[in-house]
Amino acid sequence: MNHEELKALDRQYVMQTYGRFDVDIDHGKGATLWNNAGEKYIDFTAGIGVCSVGYGNESWQAAIREQAAKLGHISNLFYSEPYIKLAQRLCRRTGMSNVFFANGGGEANEGMIKLARKYSFDRYGKGRGTILTLINSFHGRTITTLAATGQEEFHNYFFPFTEGFRYAEPNLEAVLAAAGEDVCAVMVELIQGEGGVLPLNREFVHSLAGLCRERDWLLLVDEVQTGVGRTGKLFAFQQYGILPDVASFAKGIAGGLPMSGVMANEKCRDVLTPGTHATTFGGNPVCAAAALAVQDILDDGFLAAVEEKGDYLRRAILGLNLPCLGEIRGMGLMLGVGVKAPYSNRTLAARLIEHHLLVLTAGDALRLLPPLVITKEEMDEGVAIMKRALEGIQP
Ligand SMILES: *Cc1c(COP(=O)(O)O)cnc(C)c1O
Repeated sequence: MNHEELKALDRQYVMQTYGRFDVDIDHGKGATLWNNAGEKYIDFTAGIGVCSVGYGNESWQAAIREQAAKLGHISNLFYSEPYIKLAQRLCRRTGMSNVFFANGGGEANEGMIKLARKYSFDRYGKGRGTILTLINSFHGRTITTLAATGQEEFHNYFFPFTEGFRYAEPNLEAVLAAAGEDVCAVMVELIQGEGGVLPLNREFVHSLAGLCRERDWLLLVDEVQTGVGRTGKLFAFQQYGILPDVASFAKGIAGGLPMSGVMANEKCRDVLTPGTHATTFGGNPVCAAAALAVQDILDDGFLAAVEEKGDYLRRAILGLNLPCLGEIRGMGLMLGVGVKAPYSNRTLAARLIEHHLLVLTAGDALRLLPPLVITKEEMDEGVAIMKRALEGIQP
């Protein structure tokens, strides 16, 4: 099908919930993509941080093929090797104690919220189920995770939302001001992704962890976007030098297949008991095999290279000295490029995409989440497109 046919059928048969860019994609290799007409794009999006090991990765494909040939699904009524090996690998690499597998980020966060409320209920009974979240956060699109999201624009249309969330600016005074006898947990993204790639202050994170210990609040870290090597460590909590009580992960975990999960530390390992939580597809063998292939690729040397690539890309973009771009924030290959007024990130993104560089927006920034396997040549090509597309552009 050509581009116009695809668009017409999408309009006719698919709910129009997405503001898509005017691009279709057919296939890719590494961090390079091709559309149905055979035209090439450099990709700084990784399918919104999902395709951690890039497109067409050989060992990832082989792991999926081999597992699909053996067993595609079996349910959580039976044991199977891939999800068990994956849970073991994640715990060994993080210091967390055990894992619950789910399918998407919002669903993982729902599990994390359930765990926090049950932990509190088991110890303190009813009335202590409130979770503090941060202004500008994003935690998902289910009714509960929309309520958890600390951005007013998400609290619309779908009333009534789940109760039991309060919001605070990301500083200790604001969190203390929002505190109360009803609080059981604080939930944060260490780098707020959708909010605009805003890293939390290190001291704030450490004092927040201390406050949580003091009041027996659980520290819940949403690593749906920051996890699985994105920041140059396996999880961003390792960048901050903390061990959360519970952490969720999703996007990059299986390199492109839908999978997510919740990891608990020793204190929280036995909170969710038989019958209290479940999901049919959770720990699917093909997704788990793909995730194991991703783990094999993301060894310590690879993660160190992610940090180096992030530094390289940041310096290359700053080196362009484009008047429309401002400061660059983030860690590893999770970068937010500030857009100076009166330019808008939407306009700049559209222009870059027209010039065949795929980028994302978040908050008021351009957001770059390239596949972690991106090469220096691909980064250079992307930066050259930025120069061509944005040099001399009018606001
Ligand atoms: C993307 C994202 C989610 C939602 O994940 P889905 O898979 O779309 O449900 C939740 N939290 C964060 C931090 C995210 O970036």
